[in-house]
Amino acid sequence: MKIKDIEIHPISIPLREPFIISLGTTTSANNVIICIKTDGDLVGYGEAAPSSYVTGDIQESIISGLNFIKPILIGRDPFDISRIEEDIEGTLKGNYAMKAAIDMALLDLIGNTTKTPIYNLFGRYRTEFRTDCTIGVKDPKDMAEDAVRIVEQGFDTIKVKVGTDLAEDIERIKEIREAVGHEISIRADANQGWEPKDAVRAIKNLERYEIELIEQPVPWWDIRGLKWVRTHVDIPVMADESVHSPQDALKLIEQDAVDMFNIKLMKCGGIRNGIKIAHIAESAGMECMVGCRIESRVAITAASHLVASTKNITKVDLDSSLSLLEDPVQGGIEIDRGRIALPNRAGLGIESVRV
Ligand SMILES: [Mg+2]
Repeated sequence: MKIKDIEIHPISIPLREPFIISLGTTTSANNVIICIKTDGDLVGYGEAAPSSYVTGDIQESIISGLNFIKPILIGRDPFDISRIEEDIEGTLKGNYAMKAAIDMALLDLIGNTTKTPIYNLFGRYRTEFRTDCTIGVKDPKDMAEDAVRIVEQGFDTIKVKVGTDLAEDIERIKEIREAVGHEISIRADANQGWEPKDAVRAIKNLERYEIELIEQPVPWWDIRGLKWVRTHVDIPVMADESVHSPQDALKLIEQDAVDMFNIKLMKCGGIRNGIKIAHIAESAGMECMVGCRIESRVAITAASHLVASTKNITKVDLDSSLSLLEDPVQGGIEIDRGRIALPNRAGLGIESVRV
C-alpha cells in the first residue's frame, strides 16, 4: 500500500453561539480536513483544529504546513507510521494540530486495511463512556440556565469556564450548583486566567460547591505557580495549556506540579503521542482527561479511539461537535445523552466527510 495523494480541505462551520473563554472568543470552527488516498483507493480521514492562542496555529498555517510536508508522505506505506512521523518531526517543528490530522488519517488507513477499529490496534479497554458538556463564560445567571438545559439533555457532568473576574467566577459556580443540585458533577476551567494567589483564593471559595477538579488555574509557563496552587488547595489541579507533549508531562511529574493532565490531540500531535502521555501519567499513578478544541466529529472520533484504548483516561471532555451548526461527518462516534459510543467499524469508522 502506497500513499498517492493528500487532499487538503479547509472547512468553516459556524458555532451555534459564540464560545467565550478567558483567552478569547470563537465564533466558528475554521479547521482543515485531510483525505490521505492510497494506490488501492483507500481513504484515511484526518482533521486539524487550530488554536491561535494555545497551539499558535491558524487555518492558513496548517494548510501551508501540510503542503510543506506532503512530499514526505507521497509514496510511503502507512504501516511505516513510526518512521513517517519521525521524518515529519525532523522536518517541521511544532505544528501539532496538523500532525494530529496526519496521525489519525494514517491510523485510519491502517485500520481500514486490517479491517479493525483503531482502538483494537492499541488494545481495547472500553467502547463507550460519558463526556461532560462545557459552558463558556457568560453572565452567571445565563450560565445557570445553560447548565439546567445541559442536565435536561442527559449530561451528568458540566465543565464551567471561569478565569475572568474572581468574584464573578465564584458567583458563576454558585449559581450553577444551586441550579443543578448535588447529583451533577462540576469541573471548572480557568484557562490560565488567574495569578497563583488569586487562584488559591478562588479555589478555596469554590470548595463548598463540590468542584471535581480545576483546570489550568495559572498561565501555561508558570509551573511553580501550578505547584504552589496544588499544594494550597484540596481540589485536584489539572494541567491543560501547560501539557502539550509527552516531555511536558514528564517535567510536570518531576516537579509534582499537578494531579492530572488534559490530553488533546491538537496539542500533542495525535493518538500515538496522546497514548504516550497517558502511559507516562499511568506510571506515575495519575489519571487523565481527553479534551478537544472546536473540532468536528472527525477529530472527536479520533480522540474517542484514544479514550477507548487507554485505561487511565477516566474523564472525557469531547463535546465540541455538538456546538457546531453543521455536522459534515457520516459515521464515526455517536453522542447520546452524554454517552459516547464507538462504532465497531474499521479505522476511525467514518464513512464520508462533506468538504
Ligand atoms: Mg482547558
